Amino acid sequence: MRKKLFVAAVAGVLAALAQADPNAALTRLADGFDFPVGKPNADGYRISRGFTPHGHLGEDWVGQGGSGTDFRDPVYVIGNGVVTLARDFRRSWGNVIVVRHAFMEGGQVKYADSLYGHLDRVLVREGQQVLRGQQIGTIGNAHGLYAPHLHFEVHKNLAIGVVHTMFAGDLSNYYVPSEFVNLHRTLQAGNRLTTVAMNNYVMPTFAGIPALPSMNPGQ
Ligand SMILES: [Zn+2]
Repeated sequence: MRKKLFVAAVAGVLAALAQADPNAALTRLADGFDFPVGKPNADGYRISRGFTPHGHLGEDWVGQGGSGTDFRDPVYVIGNGVVTLARDFRRSWGNVIVVRHAFMEGGQVKYADSLYGHLDRVLVREGQQVLRGQQIGTIGNAHGLYAPHLHFEVHKNLAIGVVHTMFAGDLSNYYVPSEFVNLHRTLQAGNRLTTVAMNNYVMPTFAGIPALPSMNPGQ
C-alpha cells in the first residue's frame, strides 16, 4: 500500500514538473489549416503583395473592398496550436502573434509557426492554446506605419520568430503561406494532444532604438 502511494506521489510530482516546464507546452495536433482572414477560405480578401524569396517573406492580405476597408477586421489562427509570441514590436512590426502548430504529414509529426503581423488588437497571450478558426486579433497598420493589412508568414524553421536575418530567406526556412494552407486543408489524426517546444526564439533587443533595421520585417 505504501509503495503504491509512493509511486502515485512520484507520478504526481513528475506530472507537475512536466506542466511547469517553461520550455514546453501542450497543443492539439492540427486537423487542417484555413486562411487567417475571411475564414475559412479568405472570402472577401486578396493578396496585395506575395511571397518573394530573400525579399518579402510572407503575404500581405487586404480586403477586396480596397485599402482601409479591412481595418480592424478579425484575424483568425489558421490551425490548432499554441501562442509562442504575442507582443508589440513597436515600429518594426507593430503587434505580432506567432502560433506554433504540430501536424501529421507522411506519418510523421511536423511543426510550423504561423505569424500575424501589424495587428491592431491582440486577443491572446503567450502560452495560450488556440483552436483552428479562433479569432486572435484584428487587422492593423503597425501603429500607423502602413496602410492596414495582415502580414502573414508560415515558418518551417521554428527558430525564426520575428528575426528574419538569422536564416536564409528561402523555402528551406519558409513556406509560401497560401500554398501551405492550400496543401494542408484537411489532416489526418488531428486534435490529439502533443507537446511542442517553447521559448526558443532569439529576440530582438530594443535597448537602442536604431537596433531594428537588421530585423527586416518586410512590411
Ligand atoms: Zn508584408
